[in-house]
Amino acid sequence: MVTELGPATDPRPALAVWKFASCDGCQLTLLDCEDELLGLTERVRIDHFVEMTPVEGADGKRARLEGRGPYDLSLVEGSITTAEDAERIQGIRCASRYLVTIGACATAGGIQALRDFADVDEFLAAVYAHPEYIATLETSTPISAHVPVDFELRGCPIDRRQLLEVITAFLAGRKPQVPSHSVCFECKRRGTTCITVAHGTPCLGPVTQAGCGAICPAYGRGCYGCFGPMRRPNLRSMVAQLRHDGMSEQDIQRVFRTFNATSPEYASVPDLAVEERHSPRARRETHPERPA
Ligand code: SF4
Ligand code: SF4
Repeated sequence: MVTELGPATDPRPALAVWKFASCDGCQLTLLDCEDELLGLTERVRIDHFVEMTPVEGADGKRARLEGRGPYDLSLVEGSITTAEDAERIQGIRCASRYLVTIGACATAGGIQALRDFADVDEFLAAVYAHPEYIATLETSTPISAHVPVDFELRGCPIDRRQLLEVITAFLAGRKPQVPSHSVCFECKRRGTTCITVAHGTPCLGPVTQAGCGAICPAYGRGCYGCFGPMRRPNLRSMVAQLRHDGMSEQDIQRVFRTFNATSPEYASVPDLAVEERHSPRARRETHPERPA
């Protein structure tokens, strides 16, 4: 006879997966670990994961969607966009020994943080027939703006190998080994010819954190930075290169305003784009006859 262990006697650490404002893509990355998922459940007890919980059990009764807690490891997807979110994350933090944010929404506010640069009421009026029914904050903020976070995993969506590394590291009691260098390193490793050098294609690879295997340049398109800023990105040189590759100041601002728009590392980009217009190199390229 097989006896199911209850939470009180189950020696496995408890894992919980939580969702805030997001598209669910990062949670799906965990479900996408098909080959590893069964092995993983031998090591952790998945105690709360609505994305993989059937609404009804085999007995036809509505399944209990809330976990029991406390949790040893909580993976949190999504950004804080409502007052209710801001309250709920406090409870999750209190119930979790380790809290790891997964994806651009949770670590940088996500694409929905574009509202931070605009008037949220204007967006509501443009999208909803009855905006008066929508209760939302004016900003979309990362989880770390509300509670202490133990580790942030980047990407939109996250990379499954990096997610498995984070969970494995947690089980082994060590720090996750996730690179902080740029996508350019990954291009070199896979032998991809630099598309900026060879073809003048604008690419954010030099300032973007590695993790994807440099997939976009391998297929001939520029990186648009979905893994967010690498550690200490050289934005001044990046902006100069984008100007050199034909981007206007507005284009540069827009290319950084995607999935990680509110990353603090990118805050200087608009000023750098203006400064670059007046740089000796830009003047030389615009007016080659004039001495710099
Ligand atoms: S980071 Fe990207 S993939 Fe993940 S939930 Fe947000 S929008 Fe979806
Ligand atoms: S946009 Fe950049 S970081 Fe994202 S998958 Fe493509 S190369 Fe990787």
